[in-house]
Amino acid sequence: MNDKEIELIILDEVKRQKEFVQLIASENFVSNDVLKATGSILTNKYAEGYPGKRYYGGVENADRIENIARDRLKKLFNAKYVNVQPHSGTQANIAVFQALLEPGDKILGMSLTSGGHLSHGFKASSSGKNYTAFTYEVSKENNELDYDEILQIAKKVKPKLIIAGASSYPRKIDFSKFKEIADKVGAYLLADVAHIIGLIVTGNHQNPFDVGVDVVTSTTHKTLRGARGGIILTNDEELSKKIDSAVFPGTQGGPLVHVIAGKAITFKEALEPEFKTYIENVIENSSAMANKFIEKGKVVSTNGTDNHLFLVNTKKSFGLTGKQSEELLWNANIVLNKNVLPFDEESPSITSGIRIGTAAMTTAGLTKNDFIKLADIIIEILDSNSKEIATKKKLEVLKLLGRKYEKFNIN
Ligand SMILES: *Cc1c(COP(=O)(O)O)cnc(C)c1O
Repeated sequence: MNDKEIELIILDEVKRQKEFVQLIASENFVSNDVLKATGSILTNKYAEGYPGKRYYGGVENADRIENIARDRLKKLFNAKYVNVQPHSGTQANIAVFQALLEPGDKILGMSLTSGGHLSHGFKASSSGKNYTAFTYEVSKENNELDYDEILQIAKKVKPKLIIAGASSYPRKIDFSKFKEIADKVGAYLLADVAHIIGLIVTGNHQNPFDVGVDVVTSTTHKTLRGARGGIILTNDEELSKKIDSAVFPGTQGGPLVHVIAGKAITFKEALEPEFKTYIENVIENSSAMANKFIEKGKVVSTNGTDNHLFLVNTKKSFGLTGKQSEELLWNANIVLNKNVLPFDEESPSITSGIRIGTAAMTTAGLTKNDFIKLADIIIEILDSNSKEIATKKKLEVLKLLGRKYEKFNIN
């Protein structure tokens, strides 16, 4: 690179990604093919519009790429209509809102503290500013979704759209129950599967289309392990037309052709049988880790996990806030994030807990035994509340990482 200033920072980041255990539940490591596509000269191309209906010339190859991406995604999800252009998961949701709603319409989504996402109606996001947003919570008793309570809220609120989906919910989501609720109150149902998409496409979680949800949105870079971006899917032709024009020209300009190529590769990789094995390992590793915490008497939200992530109440388990825990673990080269817990009394910048996800390190080649060892290390560090012990434990963490990253080179 000619720009040494940026090149050096990229090299620092390569080192960081190699030398730190990555437990942030929304991150993963892409394949070299995905890296190559997203770093390719496709970034030079403008292709506003859709295949066969573009506003620029020279789009022959952009059309071929987007058509392949769409066909593969339809196959992966068993869906009739897809849009692969959203620049991110948030952009996908914004476009769906624009397609289905008028400004001021009522929407109902999971609250942030219960595990929902900012783009589901949080007041600082456009979803909370442009629409009248209401929330449902998880149950106070077991921190799981209480579908009877959601029905009661939906009956009272009468939303035009209900959003099912979460960023930090460790249990399965029953889309069929959400569908019953949406039907009872005459609302559209959007399933935002940004986190659990990998589990859905491998048959390890209910597919929302099997129960007739109207629209599905997702990211492609979390458990799907692909190029960074968003997607929208539906089986309804009328809705698909509205969604396409809400993406472009409604809320975006030209598509990122290089990223769409990366998404096409992502979908192909996810169709391979190897991907199902990967996801099953992710789930197994997550529950092995969570069980270790429980075995040692620590407080895990919902007392376990069904998916790729779980939440630890660090305040009750170790007398530490989420922020303190995150910072302490960084000294041992372990990266994860503080996370609000259901009904958390601490602010989102402090929190009472941490979120742990196994998608990235399973990609990197850690085994179930490695994850159990990692849980032991984390528990020992947080129990000690000592920066010195954390720094000492770094050696063990580096040893765990030593023989990894053979297959998924970070370069
Ligand atoms: C991550 C996430 C998003 C947003 O994805 P971005 O690409 O960061 O915009 C949306 N919804 C849910 C449920 C998520 O977890």
